[in-house]
Amino acid sequence: MHKERAYIGLGSNMGEAGKHIESAFLAIAELEHTRLLRTASLYQSAPMGPQNQPDFINSVCLVETGLEPEVLLKQLQQIENDHGRERKGERWGPRTLDLDILLYGNYEIDTDILTIPHSGIADREFVLVPLFEIAPNMVMPDGKPISQWVASCSLDGLKRLRPSNEL
Ligand code: AMP
Repeated sequence: MHKERAYIGLGSNMGEAGKHIESAFLAIAELEHTRLLRTASLYQSAPMGPQNQPDFINSVCLVETGLEPEVLLKQLQQIENDHGRERKGERWGPRTLDLDILLYGNYEIDTDILTIPHSGIADREFVLVPLFEIAPNMVMPDGKPISQWVASCSLDGLKRLRPSNEL
């Protein structure tokens, strides 16, 4: 079976947000034809958009998967739903679990349901920093090293909580 490496971004800011992220790692590890290769630490950051909501906990993981991108997306949405995600909330609003496919091999996809590389990588320190932690030598889609992207983003308000390497 053909396999690709994909990076998945995770975020939560409702209930025990850190627990949702840890449990999402476990659910991702159990997806068929998928191996969880690496998980970043958990990071805490102030919410984007409306500020009257709890801080976010974010992380990133690396998987090797035989699932096609659209199938992986569906499976990740199922994991979101299993964590009580309601899909009617405001954009940037509170959420129990948000899973995004950041990168999928060298694929470039732009359809109604899927944009890869994910459009939010570049300007989100809570994505870039955990990504850098598990892939420090990564070359980004624009050909620049990830270290350069990290160097040019503001790290104010981003707090590294703990490594999740016990998984
Ligand atoms: P969100 O509210 O951030 O969870 O956005 C969900 C929507 O983004 C879904 O309906 C997906 O179809 C769409 N989407 C587009 N590109 C991606 C991606 N790379 N990873 C996850 N969802 C994506």
